[in-house]
Amino acid sequence: MESKSEVSQESESSEDALDVFDAIIIGAGAAGIGAGIALAHSGVGNFVIIDRGAVGSSFASWPDETRFITPSFPSNSIGMLDLNSIAVGVSPAYNMRIEHPNGSEYAKHLQDLAEFFELPVRENAEVVQITNTEGVFRVETNDWTISSKNVIWAAGEFLYPRLGGFTGSELCRHTATLANYSDLEGEDFLVIGGYESGTDAAYHLSKRGKKVTMFDKDDPWGLDASDPSASLSTFTYERMREASFEEKVTLFPESAVTSVELLDGVYELKSDDGQVFRSKTQPLLAGGFDGSHTLVSNLFEKREDGFPLLNERDESTKVPGIYLCGPSVRHDNHDFCFIFKFRQRFAVVAQSIASSMGIQTDDFVQAYRDWGMYLDDLSCCGQECVSC
Ligand SMILES: Cc1cc2nc3c(=O)[nH]c(=O)nc-3n(C[C@H](O)[C@H](O)[C@H](O)COP(=O)(O)OP(=O)(O)OC[C@H]3O[C@@H](n4cnc5c(N)ncnc54)[C@H](O)[C@@H]3O)c2cc1C
Repeated sequence: MESKSEVSQESESSEDALDVFDAIIIGAGAAGIGAGIALAHSGVGNFVIIDRGAVGSSFASWPDETRFITPSFPSNSIGMLDLNSIAVGVSPAYNMRIEHPNGSEYAKHLQDLAEFFELPVRENAEVVQITNTEGVFRVETNDWTISSKNVIWAAGEFLYPRLGGFTGSELCRHTATLANYSDLEGEDFLVIGGYESGTDAAYHLSKRGKKVTMFDKDDPWGLDASDPSASLSTFTYERMREASFEEKVTLFPESAVTSVELLDGVYELKSDDGQVFRSKTQPLLAGGFDGSHTLVSNLFEKREDGFPLLNERDESTKVPGIYLCGPSVRHDNHDFCFIFKFRQRFAVVAQSIASSMGIQTDDFVQAYRDWGMYLDDLSCCGQECVSC
């Protein structure tokens, strides 16, 4: 693997970069590290990965008890890449001997990958602005500025939680800001949002004997769909069947929360069907994420659902040369929100950048395609499993 390019001293210390990279990846999470490995495999060597924290820091900030819902299994030996792998041939299950890693364990896995593949990562540099002049991107961090012909935006969603949505939402605590569930004080929790994060919160709280009332504007617990982007995971359904969950958690599907007020030390929550719920414990908000793509919305056209509009290479339709990798990738009604989905597009982006530089990519594309890591025909997506 030849990908040892580094940010030069000049570009770190000067306002205007002297070097122009072929690509800059922003974010060293699952998407940024995976895209970096694919880029290096494709033959692009002059690139750098920038992160505002450390490699995997977003995973490291998950609540301690939260685990991957997707199982890892060393299925690589029969040509099926481990579901939680972001690199051809790698199996987190084999390396970690853990089926459902927690955030810190997966962060360590990403750090191991960055080291193994000798990726050029620059940590503790927050990208604050990207501009494009005559085809060259200027990427400004809080300390220095560098330039590149291409940019891959892979700054994720978890560090950009959705905090609004109803009156008084600022009185609630977003689950993405929790260090753990064991230190949370209170006996009676109101949880707003019942998809994976909310149900995960309800599970851990009920396990500790807490009473939980959980609301969702839809019915994620009863939805009959097999796509994990739409329905809850098998791991979550299993946990919902545990006695503590059944005993302690009350579900309110089709109940949109309209307001939360704090009255004389008591939180009062109202739902759109006129019901009122009260608790002395601060409500938990699990209403999803705005996502980091909102920071670069000036460089992308917007889809109707607010996500960036991408061409078939996951490149901006507005400013050529900037790509999106990670869970915010959307094409038509296909949602790439999980690792095993969005990893299939790393090589599509890498191939686009490599071929724009005149690099021959046929062998690279075939190797990735053989591992299910190059998905360019989306007609296979959206299949429902057979009910039997
Ligand atoms: C509770 C929970 C459980 C999940 N479980 C699963 C699961 O089981 N299976 C699965 O496939 N997916 C799961 N997901 C989704 C998965 O975690 C995300 O899709 C994944 O983290 C996205 O990877 P990413 O690299 O895009 O973003 P992140 O992992 O968030 O990485 C983004 C990186 O960008 C950096 N960054 C952000 N802004 C800037 C900036 N301005 N400048 C520089 N750097 C920046 C951050 O520091 C971070 O390191 C889960 C998500 C949550 C919240």
